[in-house]
Amino acid sequence: MNQKIQMLQAELRILEKKYQQLGKEVEISNDALRQRTLELERQKNIMKHQALHDVLTGLPNRTLLIERAQQSFQIARRENACCCLLMIDLNRFKEVNDTLGYYKGDLFLKEVAQRFRLQLRSSDTLARLGGDKFIVGLPYTNATQAKEVIKKLLRTLASPLTILNKQHAVQISASMGVAVFPEDADHVEDLIQCAEVAMYVAKKDKKTAVFYQSDMKRDSEARLSLVGDLKYAIEQGGLELYYQPQLLTKGDGLPSFEALVRWNHPTRGLVFPDMFIPMAEETGLINPMTWWILEEASAQCAAWREAGMQVCVSVNLSARNLKEESFVRRVRQCFERYQLPPEAIVLEITESMLMDDPQQAAEVLHSIDAMRVEVSIDDFGTGYSSLSYLKHLKVDELKIDRSFVMGMHNNENDIVIVRAIINLAHSLGLRVVAEGAEDQGDWDVLDNLNCDRVQGYFVSRPMPVQQATDWLKTWISDKIKP
Ligand SMILES: [Mg+2]
Repeated sequence: MNQKIQMLQAELRILEKKYQQLGKEVEISNDALRQRTLELERQKNIMKHQALHDVLTGLPNRTLLIERAQQSFQIARRENACCCLLMIDLNRFKEVNDTLGYYKGDLFLKEVAQRFRLQLRSSDTLARLGGDKFIVGLPYTNATQAKEVIKKLLRTLASPLTILNKQHAVQISASMGVAVFPEDADHVEDLIQCAEVAMYVAKKDKKTAVFYQSDMKRDSEARLSLVGDLKYAIEQGGLELYYQPQLLTKGDGLPSFEALVRWNHPTRGLVFPDMFIPMAEETGLINPMTWWILEEASAQCAAWREAGMQVCVSVNLSARNLKEESFVRRVRQCFERYQLPPEAIVLEITESMLMDDPQQAAEVLHSIDAMRVEVSIDDFGTGYSSLSYLKHLKVDELKIDRSFVMGMHNNENDIVIVRAIINLAHSLGLRVVAEGAEDQGDWDVLDNLNCDRVQGYFVSRPMPVQQATDWLKTWISDKIKP
C-alpha cells in the first residue's frame, strides 16, 4: 500500500513539474503573442500616419485636413460658428529648387512648415498639399481672426530662411487665399476650391492675401474657357497681326513696322492684348503664340520685300521664348524659310524680362547677335537696368517706354529722362525708338532730341495687313512726313 502511495506521489510530482513547465511555455507564448499584437498595432499606426501625413514635413495631408475640417464644420453648424480655410503658396519657390537643388529646397520647405506650425493653435490643422502649397484649417475662426493669423504667418517669413548651418539664406514670400465657412461654401471640397481661387487672384494681383468673393469663381471659370479658346485660336489661325509703323525722324529711309497680335474672339469680339497676353504668359501658350507671330510676320515681311518694299518688322518675344532650348535654331529656320536677310526682323524683348534671368538672356542674345539679327529692348526705363549693362547684352535698339513720352507734355522731368536715354544710348551706339507719340508737339520734341524713330498714334494706329500695305504704298509715293 505504501509503495502504491509512493508511486502515486512520484507521478504527481512529475505531473506538477510538467504542469509548471507548461505554464511557463504558455506564459512565453502569451508574451510573444502580446509582442506580435503590439508590433502589428505599431505597424498599423505607421501606415495610418503615412496615409494621412506628408512624408517630407510630417504635416497632415489633404485627406486628414478634409477629415478634420468636416468635423469642425459639423460643430460649427451646431453652434452657429465660422471656420476658415487658408491656402498658401510660396512665391518663386521654383527658383530655390532651380538654384540650390531639390535637397536644399526640401530643407527650406521643412523650415517653412515648422515656422508656420509655431504660429498656429494646436486645434488648427496645417497641411501640405504637395510642392510649395500649404493649407490651414482654422476652426472657430471668423474673417477678422483669420486676418490676424495671416499677419502672424507673414511675419514669420519676414526673416530669411536659413538651412545647413546658415550656409544658405533665402528670403521668401507667399500668396494666400482665404475662404470662410459657411459664407463661401458649406462643403470642405468646395471651400478648398474657393480658397484656391482666392489664392490665385492674390498671386495674379501680386497681393499677399485675398479673401474669396463669389464673382471670383465665375471669373476663373470664364478665364479657364478663355484659355481653351486662345489655344484653339493659336492652333486654328484665329489670331491676326496688326502693323504699327515707325517713322524715321531724319532722312528718307523707309518706315518699319511693329507686328502686334490681335484676337477677334468668335463670340466675345475683340479681346484686348492686355487681357490675353498675360494669360498666355501664365499658361505657357505664349510660346506657340510667339512662334505663330514670328512665322506670320516673317511671311508678310517677305511679301512686302518681294513687292519691292524693303521694310523691317519688329516682333515681340517673351522671356519664356528665351528659355526654350530650340529657340535660336527655330529663329534661324524661320529666316531661312522666308529667305529674309538678318536685318528684316527685329526681335523685341522687354527690359524687365531681360532682367528676369540676365545671364541666360545674355547667352541667347549672344547667339542671336552671331546671326546678325537685331534685338530691341522694349519698354525701356521701367525695368531698373543700367545702360552700360545692356551694352554687354548685345542689343541694337532701345524703345523708350510710352509713359515717358506721354508724360513729356506736362512733366519737365520726363523730357530730361527721354533726353538722357537718347544721349546715352547713342553714345553706346544704340538706335532709339520712342513709343506713344500722340501729336505734332511730341514729334517735334523727339525730333529735336535726335530720337531716331517715332511710333505712336500721331504716325498711325496699328492697322490690319491690307491697310498697312496701302499706308506703306502711299508713304512711298508721297514720302509723308509730319
Ligand atoms: Mg513692343
